[in-house]
Amino acid sequence: MKDLGTYAANTWCPGCGNFAILNAMKSALNALHDEGLPTEKIVLVSGIGCNSKIVDYINTNSFYSLHGRVFPAATGIKVADPALTVIGHAGDGDAYGEGIEHLIFAAKRNVDITAIIHDNRVYGLTTGQYTPTSPLGYKGRSTPFGTTEMPINPLELMLASGATFIARGTSHGLDLLKRLFKEAILHKGFSIVDVLQVCVTYYNMYEYYDKRVYEMTDHDSADFDKAMARIREWDYNTDAKIPLGLFYRRGAPTYEADFPAADEGGMSRDEKIKKLLAEAA
Ligand code: SF4
Repeated sequence: MKDLGTYAANTWCPGCGNFAILNAMKSALNALHDEGLPTEKIVLVSGIGCNSKIVDYINTNSFYSLHGRVFPAATGIKVADPALTVIGHAGDGDAYGEGIEHLIFAAKRNVDITAIIHDNRVYGLTTGQYTPTSPLGYKGRSTPFGTTEMPINPLELMLASGATFIARGTSHGLDLLKRLFKEAILHKGFSIVDVLQVCVTYYNMYEYYDKRVYEMTDHDSADFDKAMARIREWDYNTDAKIPLGLFYRRGAPTYEADFPAADEGGMSRDEKIKKLLAEAA
């Protein structure tokens, strides 16, 4: 495996679940490279949070966006150059809180990008506030007596919003993560992998997840209703078993496919954009 490492010093806490996501992503990119997808055609996009540092630790093209703005930035990159493979990394606070409307529209448009959500169910970088996926009663910096809100089920929302590839893994399951990342990146359309990533410092859920997760083996991922039923087995709050793997996949036209082709009308994409801008000025 090529290292794909960088000179940046890693500042994650020892034992943080982000390390598993980093290793799984490097592995997936290496496997894809060996199958003909050059690493220089990959762009990683991140926002703000512990997770977002991942773009500093992988030696490929990357773009730091703003908090909650990973997916509009990723969409813009994909539309500007559809030949690129664009992967957005965001945390649960970033994607399901600050940027939830952008995530919904990325799914609705079926833009051909991949969303990897580092879902540790807490704001780790700002030392432990609750997020949209924290369970009822979570005690943290901003809720010392426990939250009074039910968490959202983000994958239910993604399925309802039109996402064409929906999966879940954990930071204690490297092999599954590698497979899901690779499949999500290869999927033509909007793909999302929610990773139950443990924050060892502010919300250590390793034991909780280890007792509850199981990998689906008998699921029909082409069936919308069955996907919804599997997604609803666990609501990010109860003590039910937690299914992992691919919930849903379908083919559908992608957003950027409707934009003018690069060679249409004898003009390059850049020339067309310049012409459109000149006409609009
Ligand atoms: Fe990881 Fe939590 Fe430390 Fe952030 S605070 S690096 S999420 S363990």
